[in-house]
Amino acid sequence: MSTEPTQPETATPTTPAAAAAAGTRLDPWFGSYSARTRGMKASEIRALFAVANRPEVVSLAGGMPNIADLPMEDYADAVADLLRSQGTRALQYGSGQGDPVLREQITEIMALEGINAHPDDVVVTTGSQQALDLVSRIFLDPGDVLVAEAPSYVGALGVFRSYEAEVVHAPMDAHGLVPEELDRVLTELAARGKRAKFLYTVPNFHNPGGVTLSLERRPRVIEVARRHGVLILEDNPYGLLGFEGEPLPALASMAPEDVIYLGSFSKTFAPGYRVGWALAPHAVREKLVLASESAILCPSNAAQLAISTYLSQFDWQAQVKEYRRMYAERRDAMVGALAEYLPTCSWTVPEGGFYVWVRLPEGLDAREMLPRAVTALVAYVPGTAFYADGSGSEYLRLSYCYPTPERIVEGVRRLAGVLNAEAELVGLFGTGGTSRRTSVDGPSPDVS
Ligand code: PMP
Repeated sequence: MSTEPTQPETATPTTPAAAAAAGTRLDPWFGSYSARTRGMKASEIRALFAVANRPEVVSLAGGMPNIADLPMEDYADAVADLLRSQGTRALQYGSGQGDPVLREQITEIMALEGINAHPDDVVVTTGSQQALDLVSRIFLDPGDVLVAEAPSYVGALGVFRSYEAEVVHAPMDAHGLVPEELDRVLTELAARGKRAKFLYTVPNFHNPGGVTLSLERRPRVIEVARRHGVLILEDNPYGLLGFEGEPLPALASMAPEDVIYLGSFSKTFAPGYRVGWALAPHAVREKLVLASESAILCPSNAAQLAISTYLSQFDWQAQVKEYRRMYAERRDAMVGALAEYLPTCSWTVPEGGFYVWVRLPEGLDAREMLPRAVTALVAYVPGTAFYADGSGSEYLRLSYCYPTPERIVEGVRRLAGVLNAEAELVGLFGTGGTSRRTSVDGPSPDVS
C-alpha cells in the first residue's frame, strides 16, 4: 500500500559492486530488477498484522475461512485411499489445463449459477489468485487501463499494479456496481482516447464492499461493457455463500462470449490446496493455458485429485449449506454489535460472503487509527488498501468469517473504544496536520 519506493531510485548501478558503491547495500541487485517490480509493494500495515495474529488480538482483518468443522477424519481416510489407489497419478505431472474429471465437476458447480459450460473451456489454476495473474498477463501491457469497482479486492489491485496497469475505479452503491457510473467512467476514458482492457468485478458478496450486484443490474452492466467493447472479468469466490435464497445467475451465464469467470474452492471447501479456475471464451482459454504452462507447467495433480475426491465422495453441497449457516450467524453477530457499539458509523449489511464495509464518522482516518486499534487488541483493514490511488481512509473492512460470534462482539466493542477516544481527540483538536481526508467517487455503499 505504500506509494514510496523501497529503495532510492537514483542512477541504476550495473554491477553489485557499483550498486553497493551507490549506497544500495541492502540489496546489491537493486539495479537489475525489471521495471514492473516497482509496482510490487509490501503493505505498510503488514508489520501490524504480524502483531494482529497474536491470540489476544481479535482480528477482524483477515479473510481466512473457518474450516474447523470439515469432516477431517473421514476426509483424511479418503485422501489416504486416493494415494494408495492412484498415488502414481496424483504425484505425477498433469495436464496444463487441469484434470479432466475435475473440470467436468467444475462445470456442474457453475451450473448452480446458471452457467452452461463445456469442460474444454475451463482452466484449473492455483487458486483464483493465479487466474487473476494469468488474465492480467495476457491482456495488460504497461500503461493499459482497466476499470474496477471502488473499492476493489486488494489482491487483484496488487496483480494489476505488478503489470503496471492503470486502475480506474467505478462507484458502487448498495446494489453493487452502478451501470450509469460505469458508462460515465468508460465514456470519460474514451474521451481520453483510452479503452479499458477489462472490467474487474466481484458481483457477489463483494470483497471488501459486502454488497451484491442486483439481478436487475446484471444485464445492464453487460450492455454497457459490450457497447464500450470491454471484456468483463467476473471474480466469484463467494457466489455460493449467500445466506438466503438461490445463487444469482452469473454474468458469464448471460454473456459467455464477453466474460472471463473465475471460481475457487477456497471458500466453499478449503483454501489449502490452492485450487481455483477460469472459464473463458475459447480463444482466451487457449492463451490462458499457454500462460499457465509457462508459469507452472501444470496445476498440482495431487491437489486436484484430492478436491475431486472430496466432491465425489462427500456431500459438499450440505457442507456449503453449513458454511452459510455459520457465516450468517457471524454476520448477525457483527451487524448487531455494530448497531450496539458504533451507532455513529454506517456499514453495509452483506447477504453472504465474509465482509462488512464500514464508513467512519467525519474526521476519522482508518489508517491512522490502526496502530491504536492494535494496541487495544483489535485489528481491521483500513479502506486505503482497496483503492488503487490510496484514497478511502474514511472506510475500513471488517471480516466476520474467522472469529467466533463472541469474539466478533468483543472485537467491535474494543473498536468502539478506540473510535470514541479518537473522535474525542478530533473534537478537541480537529483532524490535525497529519490527517488526510479523501474523497471517494460517487455514492458510497452505505446501507447500515
Ligand atoms: N478474489 C477475491 C475477491 C478474493 O476475496 C480472494 C481471496 N480472498 C481471491 C480472489 C483469491 O482466492 P483464492 O486464490 O484462494 O482462490
